[in-house]
Amino acid sequence: MEIRYCSFCGNKIEPGTGKMFVRKDGTILFFDKSKCEKNYLKLGREPRKVRWTKEFTEAKRSLKAEQQNQNVKNSSESTVENSKSKTENQNV
Ligand SMILES: [Zn+2]
Repeated sequence: MEIRYCSFCGNKIEPGTGKMFVRKDGTILFFDKSKCEKNYLKLGREPRKVRWTKEFTEAKRSLKAEQQNQNVKNSSESTVENSKSKTENQNV
């Protein structure tokens, strides 16, 4: 049995439950509960912008990681600058 995941929230769908939605253009969507179906189709919400979805938490996590990387880069750059200024001072 193939394990399917909700197209909106990303949760596992128990076999025999949930709903499969096929659009006119042929894209297949799976929903574990009506809440997800309504948010996606009726309300037209993006999973990335809804707090209780996996996509939102993952996007947030990646953003945090990027910010941390930027901070590390900035700090390393500043230390390089500091060392440069120190050597300049020693030369003078
Ligand atoms: Zn869902």
